[in-house]
Amino acid sequence: MRRAAKPLYRPSIVCDLLALPPLKPLRRRYGRLILQIPLVIVVLLLLWDGFTGPQIAPQNLATVVPWVQYRGVVVLALLLTGNLFCMGCPFTLPRTLAKRLSLGRWRWPRVLRNKWLASASLLGLFFAYEYLDLWASPLLTAWLIVAYFVASFVLEVAFAGSPFCKYVCPLGTFNFVYSTLSPTQIGVKQPTICATCTGKECLNGSYAPQISVHIDQITIQNQTRASEVKHGPQGTLGCGLDLFPPQLTSNLDCTLCLDCVRACPHDNVGLLVRPWGRELGQQGAWHARWDIALLMVIMASLGVLNAFAMTPPAYDLLAWLAELGLRSEFLALGVLFVLGGLLLPMGAALLAGALSLRLSHAKKRSLRQEVAAFAPSLVPLGFGIWFAHYSFHFLIAPLSFVPIVQEFLGQRGDWTTWGFTLPDELIGLVQVLALAGGFLWSMSLAQRVALRTYGRRATQALLPWAALLLLLAFLALQVFSQPMEMRGTEFMLG
Ligand code: SF4
Ligand code: SF4
Repeated sequence: MRRAAKPLYRPSIVCDLLALPPLKPLRRRYGRLILQIPLVIVVLLLLWDGFTGPQIAPQNLATVVPWVQYRGVVVLALLLTGNLFCMGCPFTLPRTLAKRLSLGRWRWPRVLRNKWLASASLLGLFFAYEYLDLWASPLLTAWLIVAYFVASFVLEVAFAGSPFCKYVCPLGTFNFVYSTLSPTQIGVKQPTICATCTGKECLNGSYAPQISVHIDQITIQNQTRASEVKHGPQGTLGCGLDLFPPQLTSNLDCTLCLDCVRACPHDNVGLLVRPWGRELGQQGAWHARWDIALLMVIMASLGVLNAFAMTPPAYDLLAWLAELGLRSEFLALGVLFVLGGLLLPMGAALLAGALSLRLSHAKKRSLRQEVAAFAPSLVPLGFGIWFAHYSFHFLIAPLSFVPIVQEFLGQRGDWTTWGFTLPDELIGLVQVLALAGGFLWSMSLAQRVALRTYGRRATQALLPWAALLLLLAFLALQVFSQPMEMRGTEFMLG
């Protein structure tokens, strides 16, 4: 007897946010520009100040905005709403241009269609941040922004399917991973409409050099109606990342550009509200792939490592490595990042998976399935670690950009009013809550996976993963209890 096909996981639909009057403008043809234009202006200001302004980190927009304020805002936005940064990302403008000009004909190499390159670019960004002291150099930060534009444009012009966003961009990868916690997701309102939709415009778009007409025979509640859908030069682009909304089960890879919403001729795609992090607890929401599973582990460990690199024990470690003969800072930091951000966490995850299989006597399950099943449970703790770190920098000088803008405009910067910092106790409390909340959330997810997969042997299967989560939380707590360098804000406080 043939086994019934597994039902597709779908988000539980509470409501479509884009139906709310204040958000309706986002659905319009150029709705995304509402966010992109202000961000382009901000980026131009950063570049101008970075290249021509004072090369003093706490007084320059190019360092304060991306390294202090942006990161604090982005983690909050990911948790409360979704991937808003990618939605307004100015780096995607070249992608739209390239697609309109029908450039990008090559396919991204198959061997690179995974998250390995994204993991490497994340590691590279954090390594460069440490090694080049990017937080202290407005000029280098400005060059980094330029490099971002160039890289995204070149890749989008050369290849179809937006490989820069999907497979390379470290900022996008961070947002993709942690938007899996958010309470929103792109999805379809009525799957039955999609079943009979002819053009699948949400994916294919309705943009075509020559006008053609598709006839859709849409069946709703046993009634079939025909509608004409015109494709032509005035048409809309479909999903630039080759995602198909009726089959979307996750926020991973979705830039929230809303092209699919605009393209669907049946108004069937929405920004749906769902319970926080729902996909993390859903079987089948993610592909069981090594690159995705290990990315979650790498991201959480990079959170610890990035914070650790700003504390005295990290300087002691580098001094100790120098005494051992590793005097090149490049090599010493390279060893630290490759070991601490890549090899050790990957090894720990493989060990946890192997122990879990052995303790639960699961003979028919592969190590890949095991690691992939528990990987989503690392996301909340990883997010808690990043939140604790970024909120520390953000809350030290939440509005310091105001006096910098005043000085940028030739006025006297009112540092007394706007350069304030929040009490240490409050910042510490936010950090502890973020870590504790992330840990408990992760534990409950891991327990759910163990119960669902192993039933009576759930405790044995859970033990190694619980130990891994505990170890990560403990390390993070140790790091955050150290005095941390106040990068990009020390001037105004001292
Ligand atoms: S979302 Fe819209 S365009 Fe896409 S398959 Fe469904 S009805 Fe068709
Ligand atoms: S599914 Fe594709 S088109 Fe739709 S919002 Fe996500 S990235 Fe954009």
